[in-house]
Amino acid sequence: MLQSPVEFFRNMPEKICPECGECIEDQAESYLLECDRCLSKRYE
Ligand SMILES: [Zn+2]
Repeated sequence: MLQSPVEFFRNMPEKICPECGECIEDQAESYLLECDRCLSKRYE
C-alpha cells in the first residue's frame, strides 16, 4: 500500500538536522530544517 509523501513526513517521529545529524526536538516551526546550533553558526 502506497503512502503519500505528506503522510510519510507527518509520521516521522522527529527531525534530524542535515548539518550535524542531531535530532531536532524543540522546534515547532516545520520550516526550520537545522538545529539551533547550526542555525546560529549560519547567522554569525
Ligand atoms: Zn545541527
